[in-house]
Amino acid sequence: MIQIAQSCVGCGKCVSTCPFGALSIVNRKAVASAACTMCGACVSVCPMKALSLPAAGAAKKDLSAYKGVWVFIEIADDGRTQKVRPVGFELLSKGRELADQLGEELCAVVIGDNVQNYAAELSQYGTDKIYAVSAPEYHTYNTLAYANAMITLIKKYNPSVVLFPSTYIGRDLSPRISSELFVGLTADCTGLSIKEGNLIQTRPAFGGNIMADIKCPDYRPQMATVRPNVFKKVISSAGRLAQLVNEVIPVPVEAGKVRVLQTQMDPVASEQPLDESPVVIAGGRGMKDQEGFALLEKLAATLGGAVGASRAAIDMGLLPKEKQIGQSGVTVASKLYIACGISGAVQHTVGMEHSEVIIGINKDANAPIFNVCKYGIVGDAKQVLAKALEQLKK
Ligand code: FAD
Ligand code: SF4
Ligand code: SF4
Repeated sequence: MIQIAQSCVGCGKCVSTCPFGALSIVNRKAVASAACTMCGACVSVCPMKALSLPAAGAAKKDLSAYKGVWVFIEIADDGRTQKVRPVGFELLSKGRELADQLGEELCAVVIGDNVQNYAAELSQYGTDKIYAVSAPEYHTYNTLAYANAMITLIKKYNPSVVLFPSTYIGRDLSPRISSELFVGLTADCTGLSIKEGNLIQTRPAFGGNIMADIKCPDYRPQMATVRPNVFKKVISSAGRLAQLVNEVIPVPVEAGKVRVLQTQMDPVASEQPLDESPVVIAGGRGMKDQEGFALLEKLAATLGGAVGASRAAIDMGLLPKEKQIGQSGVTVASKLYIACGISGAVQHTVGMEHSEVIIGINKDANAPIFNVCKYGIVGDAKQVLAKALEQLKK
């Protein structure tokens, strides 16, 4: 949070500068709330030079005081029912490995309403402890309320590692927490391991041309986000119940600044999520037009799957951005993946190569997509799909 020195005279100039409404004047002094993102926009406007950001390195931490691998568990809400997003189980499975290497506990943190109901399910993935923050006020995700709850718990228990899913909620929540705690955050990791007690966070860099290993040796907790389907779910403690720790954390007043009046499901979001579908039919520039994508939709409906696309097809306006598969889209790990008219650029294949059976259809026999395929069909994708649909009908 922004630091405010005693030299503040309460002139109020900074208040209107803050794009997040985090500053107010109380008893003739500026006061910052948890809404501060430490963007720094207010620093230069203060005539008294009373505002400053915490200096990097100022709070180097005693690392031995930080123990435990934590996973933030996201609850998916489709407007009717709530359930744990499967990425939470994937992160717990990886977290178990990391916790074993560190000789520390694996803990799940779950915030919501009646979250104790998820305890048995969460316990199966090697979880030692579950921190549950459960109250009706937490039923719907609220950035400020959830960030405050996470920050309160982290300050109370000092974990060494905190993992978040790289979903809309995880991407919204994790940077707010890391900036408040003044620690680093590595987004969209594709690998996590332990070396000399530090978390090694591996992710593509420079447009996917190199894999970078990132570590935070001086600060705790070490924080990272990971996309769905990067790690596998491993049930390692079936039948065992993790220790449930109920925490009561009041929702801060400033969380009321954002109130959810009505929830309306986006028709795209309410379809079967790409990253949870067992069958994915993906189209690229080679599908050419809406007519080509209509064939993909028909095949997906026949096989009970979801349709996705390469970035080139998204850029052509053939599907909405949410359906992009690859480095800057979603990662899938389906049982069956059919790539139609997709060349197989590395930025695409990193998002689908963990699928069990990959079939490629491309008119170019040398297209790189065939390097990651189990089966390849060389031919015009529209013609091949039309024939396949005919056969499936029979
Ligand atoms: P093209 O590369 O143009 O390939 C079209 C293919 O269709 C060709 O192989 C061609 O032989 C074949 N074809 C043509 N006509 C037919 C036909 N009638 N029948 C059968 N086959 C046919 N891309 C992604 O997909 N996802 C990402 O998340 C992503 N992120 C990126 C991030 C960065 C930082 C950068 C730089 C790039 C990213 N890209 C991403 C873009 C990526 O590099 C490729 O440009 C893109 O994947 C190409 O899409 P495509 O295969 O559909 O098109
Ligand atoms: Fe205080 Fe400076 Fe803000 Fe004025 S601009 S209220 S002196 S912090
Ligand atoms: Fe607002 Fe940014 Fe200043 Fe924080 S640092 S009080 S968010 S302007």
